[in-house]
Amino acid sequence: MIFTSKILFNKVLRHYTGITVWPFVILRDTEQESGSERYRVLLNHERIHLRQQAELLVIFFYILYAFYYIRNRFRGLSHWKAYQEIPFERESYAKERDLNYLKTRKFWQWRFFKKNYGKIFDE
Ligand SMILES: [Zn+2]
Repeated sequence: MIFTSKILFNKVLRHYTGITVWPFVILRDTEQESGSERYRVLLNHERIHLRQQAELLVIFFYILYAFYYIRNRFRGLSHWKAYQEIPFERESYAKERDLNYLKTRKFWQWRFFKKNYGKIFDE
């Protein structure tokens, strides 16, 4: 289920464009404009998170997500770098432009994205 919100992203999640809390995807309102390529990619990014969450019964996704983020911070990474290097984000950013990715994706595929693909600030 997909929602949009201006307030959430203007007031609370100012640096984000979307958030996924299974079974919901909430996108920054302006991103929905005109079914653009940018929007399809963003939606695909969030759909990959939906799959990751379902595979981990949602709760374990959040536990691991927090664990990886905190571990990255302890390794000295900045907030944004620590976020980028969470394995779930690595997979989503690496594959968000492949709109057919989820059709062939294997179970727990997020474990295999070791590299930072650096697409977050490319826009
Ligand atoms: Zn993400």
